[in-house]
Amino acid sequence: MLSDLEFDRRHIWHPYTSMTQPLPCYSVSRAQGVELQLADGSILVDGMSSWWAAIHGYNHPRLNQAVSEQLKSMSHVMFGGLTHRPAIELCRRLVDMTGSELECVFLADSGSVAVEVAMKMAVTYWQGKGQIRHRFMTFKHGYHGDTFGAMSASDPENSMHRLYQGYLPSNLFAESPDVIFGGQWQEGEMDNFADMLERNHTTIAAVILEPIVQGAGGMRFYHPNYLKRVRQLCDKYQILLIADEIATGFGRTGQLFACQHAGIVPDIQCMGKALTGGYMTLSAVITTREVADAISQSEAKCFMHGPTFMANPLACAVACASLALLSENRWQQQVADIELILNRQLKPLLNSEYVKDVRVLGAIGVVETVRPVNMAKLQQFFVKQGVWIRPFGRLIYLMPPYIISPEQLVRLTDAIGNALSEPE
Ligand code: PLP
Repeated sequence: MLSDLEFDRRHIWHPYTSMTQPLPCYSVSRAQGVELQLADGSILVDGMSSWWAAIHGYNHPRLNQAVSEQLKSMSHVMFGGLTHRPAIELCRRLVDMTGSELECVFLADSGSVAVEVAMKMAVTYWQGKGQIRHRFMTFKHGYHGDTFGAMSASDPENSMHRLYQGYLPSNLFAESPDVIFGGQWQEGEMDNFADMLERNHTTIAAVILEPIVQGAGGMRFYHPNYLKRVRQLCDKYQILLIADEIATGFGRTGQLFACQHAGIVPDIQCMGKALTGGYMTLSAVITTREVADAISQSEAKCFMHGPTFMANPLACAVACASLALLSENRWQQQVADIELILNRQLKPLLNSEYVKDVRVLGAIGVVETVRPVNMAKLQQFFVKQGVWIRPFGRLIYLMPPYIISPEQLVRLTDAIGNALSEPE
């Protein structure tokens, strides 16, 4: 019989892997607070929050309790024709948190599905207005997920999606935002975007973007004026604005939602990842009443979408507990403290000949190297150093749980420093 790890290598796909040349994989047996315990007993400080999600850390008593309490009454029921308290309480919280203009919530399964839902809503909105519009406009370097609609709005040059370009709906990509967060805003920066929108606006259903942080497309932090200007242009041409806050939502950038850095409100907002504190897969799309009303005027007179596991009560219950924790906790202070330490610890790495750039925003720290790293080797090095950091391409980045201690955070940044002082 194959050992567990051999079986895994032979039979199980992991994200972005090949069955014939699998990447090294570590078996994790326990996750507690900010630590992951591997099957061999070694303990790693987690720098990833399981890809932006586990903001309160792992095995949190309040989140555990929410799931076990919910299990006592109901694990799942269909959402067609039925409703329940966990969903209602969660949507109440989301409506309260996102501000007065966003008020109609659709609960979906994952980030990518939330993006599909948002794009489909935009197309249906235009049907409701008696127009056929199915193109989307965005910036280069964006990333919105791995499903077909989401890929069609992600950077066409991104290695994750390049191969599928011939099969995807053709969308419009303006030059990516170059002025960095905190940088000097330059007039004319948005000319390319504005021209493209002016020439094509009658066919565009919506602009879709990741506010402030372009994540998997390069971990780029851009100036809030781009968002302000996009909002103005969308208003001018009466095009919808979809904000994909799946990675940035729930405090990661130092604001509850990244759009708040620019003081703008989108027409449709996608949320996922940290929504359940990383416990379960759940996402949400929230829209203005105007969007919902137009959708009700479409040919079907409704929004034709209804996943089997929509509003799963266990996921909704843990999301409620996670949002309650967020509102009670000192997340602003925690994120500000993380930002301070990341700046102090990572910025000196700019002196390394292997480092092209170091950038920090909220609880995100990024070291961009001059050439692509050997991911498998570097990950192995980090595991030996007792930390969990998963680099990709030229990016070594940290996005720890907000509850990380200064000492744990320094272990992560020191490990990056060590890796750069003895690269492959
Ligand atoms: N949108 C953004 C901005 C993301 O960062 C991601 C995932 O990394 C997604 C969408 C897709 O989310 P999921 O992986 O949950 O499908």
